[in-house]
Order: sequence, then C-alpha cells, then structure tokens
Amino acid sequence: MKSGTSRNRIALNAAKNNAELRSRSKTRSIKTRRKSARKRDADEGLKRALDPLFAKYHQAAFLGSDPLEFPHRFVDPWDQEAVALFSAVLAYGKVAQIRRSVEDLLARIASLGLSPAALVRSVETEAGAAAWDRALAGFVHRFNVGADFGLFTRLLARSWRLHGSFGAHLVAKMEPEAADFGPGLSALFSEWEEWRKDFPPAPASFAYLLTPPELGSACKRWCMLLRWMGRKDALDLGLWRAGSRLLPSDSPGIEARQLVMPLDTHTGRISQYLGLTDRKSLGWQAAVEITERLRSCDPEDPVKYDFALARLGILELCQRRFRVEICGGCDLLPVCRFARKGLSSRASRSTSSSS
Ligand code: SF4
Repeated sequence: MKSGTSRNRIALNAAKNNAELRSRSKTRSIKTRRKSARKRDADEGLKRALDPLFAKYHQAAFLGSDPLEFPHRFVDPWDQEAVALFSAVLAYGKVAQIRRSVEDLLARIASLGLSPAALVRSVETEAGAAAWDRALAGFVHRFNVGADFGLFTRLLARSWRLHGSFGAHLVAKMEPEAADFGPGLSALFSEWEEWRKDFPPAPASFAYLLTPPELGSACKRWCMLLRWMGRKDALDLGLWRAGSRLLPSDSPGIEARQLVMPLDTHTGRISQYLGLTDRKSLGWQAAVEITERLRSCDPEDPVKYDFALARLGILELCQRRFRVEICGGCDLLPVCRFARKGLSSRASRSTSSSS
C-alpha cells in the first residue's frame, strides 16, 4: 500500500506532466498560428504585387509580342483553333523566329487559296493532303520540318471529324472534375500515336510537337494553348469553355481552375525569384506547384498572371540582374527574393566603401 507522501509525489508529478503537455501544445498552437499568419501575409503580399502587374500588362496592346496574336486575326472559331494550335506548337525559340515561322506557315496555307479550317478539312482527301505536303516543302522551324506539320494536320483533321474540334476531343479525354488537363492531354496524344500508323511516316522531330505531361516536361506550349482556350477575356479566346461553338452543347468544357502555369525561361525564372517554387528543375511538377501557389491570389483563375509575368522577360523589363533603375519601378519588388538579395549586397557594398 502506498504511503501518503508517495501518493502526493505521484499527484505532483502528474500535475507537472499535465502542465508541461499544456504548455507544449500551447507553444505548438502559437507556432501554427504564427506560421499561418506568415503564410497569409505572404499570400496577401504576392497578390498586392501581382494584381497591378496583371492590370498593366495583361492588355491587348502587348499582343504583338505573343503568338496569341495569330488566332486573333481570324473570326471563325475553327480557323482560330487551327491557327492557335499551329502557333502554339511553333512557340519555341526567339520571338522573332516564332513570328517568322507562323507567318510562313499561314502564307503556305493562303497559297492554297484556303482558310486554315478549310485546309485542315482538306487533308482528309488524298488530293488535299498531297497539296498540303507540297505547300509544306522546305518549311523549317528549328527542330521541326514541313513533314511534321503534314502529319500534325492529318491528325487534327481526324480529331475534328470524330469529335468536332480538338477542344471537344480533349474534353472527351478528361475525367469530369479533373484537377488539371494533364492526364486528358496525355490520353489524347496516346490516341494520336495510334492513329499516326494510318498516315505516311513523319520524321522523329514530329515528337517535339507533342509533349505529354506524364514525361515530366513543363509542356509550356500546351499549357499556353490551354490558357488561350480555357480563359476568356480581351486576350484569351475561351474557345474550349462550356458554351463554345467548338464543343457539344452539353460539354462542361475546360475551366480556368484546371489550367496549369506555362513555364518558359521567363515565367520559370521570375516564379523562382518570387519563391513560387524552390525547385531547380522547371518541369511539370514545378508548373503544378507554381499554379497551386498562385491559387492563393485567385483560386478560380491562377494562370491569369502568365501573360503579364512573361511580358517582364519578353519585353526585357526584367533582365536577370538587379538593376536599381529597373527593379525600383517593378511591381514585384516587394516580393522578389532576387531583387532583395541585390539590394542587400548593394547596401553592404556601400557600407564597406564608406567605412
Ligand atoms: S524586382 Fe527586378 S529582378 Fe525582380 S522581377 Fe522585378 S525586374 Fe525582375
């Protein structure tokens, strides 16, 4: 039987343990509250920086620096879809080179006396396909050649015949309520891979036009095309959204929340400056992570900042180095880790030179 003194000791120890537990859980909850407050502040700071940038650069006045300009030249939605697809897959390399190649491709279509949509439909006939192959002779854009576009157009024509449009084909491949379009696009590319056996072979460079997300690449060109087609405003066309003529009337279409940030050399680098990802490799996972982070600024439309962020790089407003005369006027300065580093090394240089 325990004595009164040892019972008291046990009770005392239990009380001490309880007090410690309470204090630890209090510290934990203070830490959690501080962490969420820091996250909330960071999210608000990011939004405060990005919204003015969006207002300034997500403007039709800057269309001339983007391949989205090309589908805007057309009115018919099938013309726009065909031109958007051609322009997007050609969108790698320097801006001037991309523009030259898209202009060249459009001129070759026009040389047949056809609209872009009529060209796509024409390749379903032997004579139409042969005429398009002849018109493509000598076409080169960096890794791609005319024959790649011969096959691309034939595959697109079959998607149109079976589904009505490329957008309808893609939506048919997507799970309802899918978090993003990635698996749907990969499934569509797999189907195209099957279909291509029915057409004349294309060189290995054809594969460079189709970049399935499951291989881990950022799929910048396809993410960009999806942004053009899944968002709707003065710039983005919204042709694959519910209610579009390119989709069946009951199609849910693609929603802005299902888009993934297109990561190129500019948007990838600036996203790293802003701490939207700590990944060194800017592949699909980084694109998804950056999109998630941007949801804190706009949960339903996180990718809306893409065009404006890309302008900083394309228009050489952000130049891969800290320049006080440039960074000082940049909307992103308060949230830019890269500029903060530049500012502090400038400050330490001036302190050491004055001491
Ligand atoms: S603050 Fe400077 S480095 Fe940072 S995004 Fe703006 S221009 Fe680029």
